[in-house]
Amino acid sequence: MDENSCLRCGNCCTQFGVCVTPYDIARIVECTGMKPEEFLSLIDDYPEREREEPAVLIDGKMKIVVLKRDLKEVCCFYSKDGCKIYECRPYLCRAYPFIIKEGKLAETKSRACIRCWKPKGEGKKQYSKDAKMYAKEVKEYWKIAEDWNSKGGGDFHSFLKFALQNSKVR
Ligand code: SF4
Ligand code: SF4
Repeated sequence: MDENSCLRCGNCCTQFGVCVTPYDIARIVECTGMKPEEFLSLIDDYPEREREEPAVLIDGKMKIVVLKRDLKEVCCFYSKDGCKIYECRPYLCRAYPFIIKEGKLAETKSRACIRCWKPKGEGKKQYSKDAKMYAKEVKEYWKIAEDWNSKGGGDFHSFLKFALQNSKVR
């Protein structure tokens, strides 16, 4: 493990709710056979949040869709051997702790990552590709969310159905 690599320590999987897009949800359903409600939960939207994902109107309140986590904030897919859904993990996880800013790979504003590192070479290319896909899917999620919110929202189950019908896995 060099200074340009993720340590795979799992620290970022055990600290906060991981936002997902409908595209992530569809991929996880396809690869695990789980129902969305089995691995998703909702948290209240809050003004100071730094993530890019939209809030959606569920039962009259603005909510953020995240992966389920336990009382200590550990992601439901985390195990001591690593991510249980590594092949279909959300794009936020794939790109973390980076985002695309002004067309370039940049660090997220606040990082749970314990290590100061930056990918290079092939690693950098992969992170850039994943961060671009993350940005693209988040943008498409905004359109879905705005459409849903403008119709007055509804319950979580109906939102999931609406979001999955209006997105397609690439
Ligand atoms: S889905 Fe996997 S990579 Fe993402 S936070 Fe959960 S355990 Fe970590
Ligand atoms: S991104 Fe940082 S905190 Fe997350 S697994 Fe890699 S080194 Fe650990």
